[in-house]
Amino acid sequence: MSLQQNILQVKQNIALAAKEAGRAPEEITLCAATKTQSDETIRAAISAGITLCGENRVQEMTAHLDADAYAGAELHFIGHLQTNKGKQVVGRVELIESVDSLRLLEAIERQAAALDLVQDILLEVNIAGEASKSGLSPEELEPMARRAVELPHIRLRGLMAIPPAACGEGNRRFFRKMSQLFVDIKQKMAHNGNDINCLSMGMSGDYMDAVREGATLVRVGTALFGEREPLEKPVRDIF
Ligand SMILES: *Cc1c(COP(=O)(O)O)cnc(C)c1O
Repeated sequence: MSLQQNILQVKQNIALAAKEAGRAPEEITLCAATKTQSDETIRAAISAGITLCGENRVQEMTAHLDADAYAGAELHFIGHLQTNKGKQVVGRVELIESVDSLRLLEAIERQAAALDLVQDILLEVNIAGEASKSGLSPEELEPMARRAVELPHIRLRGLMAIPPAACGEGNRRFFRKMSQLFVDIKQKMAHNGNDINCLSMGMSGDYMDAVREGATLVRVGTALFGEREPLEKPVRDIF
């Protein structure tokens, strides 16, 4: 299948899952996870209707930005971000989806203040409690959200999760838990609840279930671009 056909197929599947859940397909944004893809492939995806790209690694993202490969699309940072690399990301992406520690949150605040801008972020939750993955525990979430909304150069937009790689129904319960956390945080942060409208979850193997359970943003790589070449970095660094 061509990239164009894959994009259509994924969009159709999103619409189908949305309808099953009584949701409007427009409530869900498709983010193309472009790690390991070339400038040409990213440009082709955008020509074929992709409006949002998600990048994992600072170095790759910087190279694509230098080549203007994301022109015509928005850009999110979706990978694990080291505190000392915040400078290369803050102000260059619409949304940092993967804020997973107080240190990172505060580093983003400092950098955004230096640039005199407000950086939109999501808090990443380690919803399956996996030791190998970063992300906040559900218990850490509320205090972190409270801190985030206090910071003048940060705007908390919602939550993100990367449950275990799965096919079938395996992750549906994690998606359901994320939806509950999302509603809960929105209510608790009622004073800026309108800003909190993004629930990012679901990848190639499970994005339809994520949509059925309330995702507003799904991050899809393989189902659009095909299998990736094995990555040269350990998985821990990528996520
Ligand atoms: C790679 C990646 C995805 C997409 O994964 P696929 O299984 O290829 O769809 C989504 N989210 C993050 C954070 C990723 O790193």
